[in-house]
Amino acid sequence: MKIPFLNFNPMHTEIRKEMVDSFSNTYDSNWFILGQNVEAFELEFSKYCGTDYCISCGNGLDALSIILKGYDIGEGNEVIVPSNTYIATALAVSYVGAKVVFVEPDINTFNIDINKIEAAITSKTKAIIAVHLYGRPAETDKIKSLCKKYNLKLIEDAAQAHGAIYNEKKTGNLGDAAGFSFYPGKNLGALGDGGAIVTNDFALAEKVRAIRNYGSKIKYYNEYKGVNSRLDEIQAAFLSVKLKHLDKWNADRQKSAKLYLEKINNTKIILPNITSINKTVWHIFPIRTEYRNDLLKYLKDNEIETLIHYPIPIHLQKAYKDLGYGVGDFPIAETISKTVLSLPIWYGMKYDEINYVIDVLNKW
Ligand SMILES: *Cc1c(COP(=O)(O)O)cnc(C)c1O
Repeated sequence: MKIPFLNFNPMHTEIRKEMVDSFSNTYDSNWFILGQNVEAFELEFSKYCGTDYCISCGNGLDALSIILKGYDIGEGNEVIVPSNTYIATALAVSYVGAKVVFVEPDINTFNIDINKIEAAITSKTKAIIAVHLYGRPAETDKIKSLCKKYNLKLIEDAAQAHGAIYNEKKTGNLGDAAGFSFYPGKNLGALGDGGAIVTNDFALAEKVRAIRNYGSKIKYYNEYKGVNSRLDEIQAAFLSVKLKHLDKWNADRQKSAKLYLEKINNTKIILPNITSINKTVWHIFPIRTEYRNDLLKYLKDNEIETLIHYPIPIHLQKAYKDLGYGVGDFPIAETISKTVLSLPIWYGMKYDEINYVIDVLNKW
């Protein structure tokens, strides 16, 4: 049986008519940037997250960098970022001219290790970006108390965690502001690029709404040196359709993940550990093994497609060689990058498909 890493077909077949209708409506409206669809989606998504405001933008990276700009974080400031994350988290900090300060993850949760944050805080620190990596909420309650103590902003990178819940609150509503991505492969994905900022901070909301549109609140009056980062009307229309289905899609991922957790049984494989306090939405189902190269080849031979999230930690990327780090500087992030492997998971993955993956893994 051939198992792709991700399969959009079940999702996109189910909503085909709604999506095509929303395309037709937008096409006929002759209005394509910052109109009714964007307004409607922003309202729906803020309601979904439980926040007062949602400001959509061009992508997840922009969402994060616009939040930082909105808080006047830039040159001379430091921002704490987990050493195990997608590079966009760090790039957002670099783009505004602030310094990226890495903190190691907890190897059991893959998220930032809350016990290691305080040592990284200096007089220049302005914010902590908590990433809900692989769909699992970071322990923001504990991070929040540190932020209070040192007067820092807590910014969520929720690009992988639409709909995930921590302590009965949705991601996006756990800090001062959050950035989401609607890249097609995310749990809530557009048919192209898209992103959003959600927040309960009125002043920030007003400011980032201007920043994403050339720094302008009133056409041709520019208050800030803003950017052009807007969600298209067409993508907003698609996202409104998809948002209505998101909880069902996440529940289906959770069902598949439960099967993986219950039935994968191989002493060479470390399964992700879960707790009841944070409800992960399994953007990715990460396993770890010391024999990853062997497992990669074995799964390929059995026609199971997997990916590595992520093969090179940020501090060892060429792009960040200016920070001067080398091998051994963030050993936990390095261990994860060498041992982690993401199993196939998508909405509508069939019972037979999941069981095939489990079977193949158990025979390894
Ligand atoms: C996808 C992703 C981003 C960036 O989103 P884009 O829409 O691709 O710019 C940021 N952070 C994390 C953790 C992501 O997974």
